[in-house]
Amino acid sequence: MSPVTTYGLVGYPLGHSLSPVMHNTAFKELDVEAVYTLFPMQQSELGSFFEDLKHKNSPIFGLNVTIPYKETVIPFLDLLDPFAQKVGAVNTVVIDENRRLKGYNTDGPGFLAHLTEEGFKPEGKRISILGAGGAARALVSVFCLMIDQPESIRIYDVDRDKTLSLVKDLGTRMDVGRVQVVSTIDELNIELADLLINATPIGMKESDPCLVKKDLLHSHLMVYDLVYNPSETPLLKLAKSQGAKAVNGLKMLFYQGVLAFQHWADVELSEAVKTRMWEQLYKECYKK
Ligand code: NAP
Repeated sequence: MSPVTTYGLVGYPLGHSLSPVMHNTAFKELDVEAVYTLFPMQQSELGSFFEDLKHKNSPIFGLNVTIPYKETVIPFLDLLDPFAQKVGAVNTVVIDENRRLKGYNTDGPGFLAHLTEEGFKPEGKRISILGAGGAARALVSVFCLMIDQPESIRIYDVDRDKTLSLVKDLGTRMDVGRVQVVSTIDELNIELADLLINATPIGMKESDPCLVKKDLLHSHLMVYDLVYNPSETPLLKLAKSQGAKAVNGLKMLFYQGVLAFQHWADVELSEAVKTRMWEQLYKECYKK
């Protein structure tokens, strides 16, 4: 009996991931005999894992990649989609029938799909970003590669050098002329911004503070917190109380997953399947 076709998530540590429920729902809805599983592994194990994917009898045909390997996996791939190449990070790998590995980045497009659904058009807008890690890398890339770009993108991270090197690195592959690295949260000019994005993990723990002062938040602002658990972070709560639009990142996770699945299957998912994936994802995320 041949092993069941397998997809999965590579990262470390993986903890409780929401990806299996989303993708396994899609397989079930499509009546496809395949399974999505977790591949937690140390960095020292990555090389042999990716080497094994080349073997013609490997049952693995697609992967997601998460922290801390979105950049590390690139040398193991045969091809890179142009957007992933520009971002310099991969969260989706497609393995074709010749066992060639192609990397994609669906974090950026997933985020943009959700912004679009929320009716936010970045063109000419002022955007402030908290955090300059992996997620910010994808977001900044999306904004800088748009034809109709935002007016400005201000970015703050506790580690200024890290922020500068992120922007410098992206600047070798795209125009980062509208990106400004700032040294304090005050310099993010949130009071003048149209969109504030939290791309730090602050807000995940109950004891986490709100990074932004209340009086900076205003009713013309949309606050997008990449954190989705809890569904309302201290930042989102405060934003709402100030009349700002407050949105969490669960739909970004959903859309990056839908786009990853579509790369693996090379088909567009129907609205019915997507709705089922979303329902199951939401249920799993917020179950008591
Ligand atoms: P990451 O690579 O660790 O980046 C987070 C960055 O924020 C780090 O540079 C960190 O600095 C910085 N930071 C931490 N505390 C800060 C503070 N108080 N002020 C300013 N900067 C601060 O993580 P990531 O992969 O970008 O993810 C960020 C968050 O987004 C996580 O909560 C993740 O779960 C979430 N996320 C959600 C989605 C989604 O689909 N919704 C997708 C990706 C990520 P240090 O490293 O020095 O602490």
